[in-house]
Amino acid sequence: MHAVIGNWKQNPATIDEVNTLLDSLLAATEDQDANDQHCQLMVAPSCIHLTGVSARLQNTSILAAAQDISAHSSSIGAYTGDCSAQQIADAGATWTILGHSERRQYHKESHQTLVNKVNNAFEHNLGVVFCIGETQTQYDDKQTFAVLDKQLAVIKDSIAKLKEQHIDSKKLSEDLIIAYEPVWAIGTGKVPTVEEVSATHEHIKQTVAAFDKALPAVTVLYGGSVNTDNADDFAASTMIDGALVGGASLKADSFLAIANAFNRAKS
Ligand code: PEP
Repeated sequence: MHAVIGNWKQNPATIDEVNTLLDSLLAATEDQDANDQHCQLMVAPSCIHLTGVSARLQNTSILAAAQDISAHSSSIGAYTGDCSAQQIADAGATWTILGHSERRQYHKESHQTLVNKVNNAFEHNLGVVFCIGETQTQYDDKQTFAVLDKQLAVIKDSIAKLKEQHIDSKKLSEDLIIAYEPVWAIGTGKVPTVEEVSATHEHIKQTVAAFDKALPAVTVLYGGSVNTDNADDFAASTMIDGALVGGASLKADSFLAIANAFNRAKS
């Protein structure tokens, strides 16, 4: 699978601004021929905007994703402030981002928390965009692969649990995306080289493949300061299946230019 996903984070400020962004995205994509689409487009608005965004995206080529779900319960419960996988799916989302570095940093998300979230998502048929990435210090210390392996252990544990429930490996691979996002590249304008990202993606694909021999190749996106100037370079690598885009996804023009770069390269 190839995908370009916009992570809107805690943006835009108002529903009016959300609708303006959607107006531009939909106007630019509604006439596109489905046969020319080689990249799945997705946007992840904040939870409060998810229902409205999902409703407007129904019967379009763009999917709606959440940015997070509750670890505590996949359904209902006394968990103030949380939104469950069931509620997110009911709001119209088909995917959720999990383990974003900002969640890991500001909410101290642990291994077990993330295992619970992944399992809760799959229980309600939400696809998972699982984010992993090293900090600047870890990168400088050449710890990248060791850090990623530790973070990917969440996926290993989740796969083991799902296999107990006889979940089909093909379905699993269709519902799982790994997003490699070096923490030091997020929102900084700094990016690793395409060669570095490609080697890291190869390592991620091999690592996940070892968790389940029957699993078809997992989709791996790059995220971290992807913009209209560097998108073509990342898209040209066969190891880079798409992009998770933060800042540049808040303007329809730049998001669609990035999407088009990947669409062209993956055609
Ligand atoms: C992100 O936070 O997922 C991200 C990729 O952000 P940015 O594109 O702004 O670096």
